[in-house]
Amino acid sequence: MTGTGEITLDTATFKGTVNFHTGLFIDGKWVDPVDAGESIDVVNPSTGKPIAKVSLGSKKDVDIAVKVAHKAYKTSWGLKVPGFTRGKLLMRLADLIERDADQFAALEAINVGKPFAVAKAADVAGTVRCIRYFAGWADKIEGKVIETTEDKFAYTRHEPYGVVGQIIPWNFPLLMLSWKVGPALSTGNTIVLKPSEMTPLSALKFAELVAEAGFPPGVFNIVNGYGWTVGQAITEHMDIQKVAFTGSTLVGRKVLEAAARTNLKVVTLELGGKSPSIVFDDCDLEQTVKWNVQSMYANMGQSCIAGSRIFVQEGIYDKFVAGYTAAIQAFANATGDPFSPGTKHGPQVSQTQFDRIMGYIDAGKADGAKVHVGGERHGNEGFFIQPTIFTEVKAEMKIAKEEIFGPVTAIMKFKTEEEVIEKANDTVYGLACYVYSDNVKRALRVAHALEAGSAFVNTGQTTDPAIPFGGYKQSGIGREHGEYAIATYTQVKGVHVNLGVSL
Ligand code: NAD
Repeated sequence: MTGTGEITLDTATFKGTVNFHTGLFIDGKWVDPVDAGESIDVVNPSTGKPIAKVSLGSKKDVDIAVKVAHKAYKTSWGLKVPGFTRGKLLMRLADLIERDADQFAALEAINVGKPFAVAKAADVAGTVRCIRYFAGWADKIEGKVIETTEDKFAYTRHEPYGVVGQIIPWNFPLLMLSWKVGPALSTGNTIVLKPSEMTPLSALKFAELVAEAGFPPGVFNIVNGYGWTVGQAITEHMDIQKVAFTGSTLVGRKVLEAAARTNLKVVTLELGGKSPSIVFDDCDLEQTVKWNVQSMYANMGQSCIAGSRIFVQEGIYDKFVAGYTAAIQAFANATGDPFSPGTKHGPQVSQTQFDRIMGYIDAGKADGAKVHVGGERHGNEGFFIQPTIFTEVKAEMKIAKEEIFGPVTAIMKFKTEEEVIEKANDTVYGLACYVYSDNVKRALRVAHALEAGSAFVNTGQTTDPAIPFGGYKQSGIGREHGEYAIATYTQVKGVHVNLGVSL
C-alpha cells in the first residue's frame, strides 16, 4: 500500500497538514512490501484511535534493502565519497529537518503523545543538533602512524563496516533514529533501519528529507515492520556487519543471540534502566525538587534514564517529599492534549504500555507501598496515567526493582553515603544516576562510585551528542554519541609497509 498519509490539525500550537509516505523506503524510492497488502494501524495515544496505516514489511523486504544498501556502499558511498561530501549532505539534511520542525513535532505529538512544545524543543531540536554534530565528524576521521622500526611504516585506517542495521524504539522515535543515523552516515556506512511498528511516522518523514538532501539512493533504507519479523531478519542477516539496537533488555538479549548464531556481527545495545537519584541533606532543595521532576516525568516517564528510584537522606526527607509532592501536583494539573500550549504531561504510548504501568501501580499497592500522589488513570479517553509517587517503598518490591517505563517514582529513605551507594548499585541495570549535593567532593565521589554509564550531578536528564551515552551492566553494550560513536561505526585496520627489509 504505497501511498501517502495526511494529518490535518487545527490546534493552538500547530495548524496545517502533515503529509507522509506510508510505504517502505528502499533504494531512494517508496515501494510496496513484496507481500503487499499487509499494513498496521498507527494510533493516536491521546484518543486510542487510528490515525494512519503504514505498510508492513517482511524478511523478503529486508533482503532487498540489504542488497541495495550493499550496492550503494560499494558504488556511491563508503570510502568512495570523501568525508567532506558526506558531512555536507548531513548538514543539508539537518537544515531540512529544522525547516520542517513543526511538522516533525506534530507527528511526535500525535503519534507518541509528546507535548508539541516539548517535542519541538527537545526531540526535533536535539535531532538537528545531533545530525550537525556528526556531520562535523565526517572529515575528521583519522588513523594513527605507529612507530615501530625505521624499516617499517605502520598506520591505521578507520573504515566503515558496510551495511549496518538499526532498530529504533517508540519512546523517542526521531531522536533515537538521529543518534544512530548521524554517526553511521558520517563514517560512510549504509543503513537498513526499522522504526518501532507503533511510531513510524517521523522516520518516514525523515526518509523523504534524506532523498531531498541528495543522498545517493540506497544509502538509507527503511523497512517498517514488527520486531519478530523485520527486526529479527535484520539481526540475523549475513550481509549486515553491525547492528545498533535501542530497546528493552529482553529484546537486546535476542539481538545478541541472533548475532552469535549467524555472522558474529558487531552489536551495540542501548537498553533499559532503573536509575537511582540520590538526594543528600546538603542539596539545594528547590533546584533538586525541580530536577527530579524533570528527570522522572519528562516524556511521561518513558525514558530509559528516568530517575525512578529516589533515595532521600533522612535529614531532608520530609522537606523533599513535601516539595516534590507539591511540584508533582502542579505538574499533574498540566496533563492533557499534547497540542495545548500549557500541556506538560501527555498519554502513555499505547494500550499495552498503559496496562503494564497500571499493573505496576497495582503491584506497588498490593506490596504495601503507599500511593502518595496519583496512582490512577487520568480521564476516560486515551492512555493517560496520573503522575504517581510511592513512598514507604522497600528495596525488594517490584516497583523498586523493575523498569516501569511510566510516570511512577519510588521514594526511599537513607542515612549514610556508604549505605546509599550500596542500595543504589543493587540493580541489574546501570544506565544513569543522579546525585544532588552542594558538597562537590561528596557529589563527585558518589557519582564515581555508582555503576552507571551516565552520571548527572545537580542536574536532570540531559544528553548531548558530544558526550558518550550508554549502559553499564545489563543496560547495554557500547556507546552512542561523541567520538565513541564514531569508533563503534568504524573498524580499524593496521597497515604494515616494508621500507627496507629483504628476505
Ligand atoms: P522493545 O525492545 O520492545 O522494542 C524495541 C525495538 O525492537 C522495536 O523496534 C521492536 O519492534 C524491535 N524488536 C522487538 N522484538 C525484536 C526482535 N526479536 N528482534 C529484533 N528487533 C525486535 O522496546 P520498546 O518497548 O520499543 O522501548 C522501550 C525500551 O527501550 C525500554 O526498556 C527502554 O529503557 C529502552 N530504551 C533504552 C534507551 C537507551 O538509550 N538505553 C533509549 C530508549 C529506550
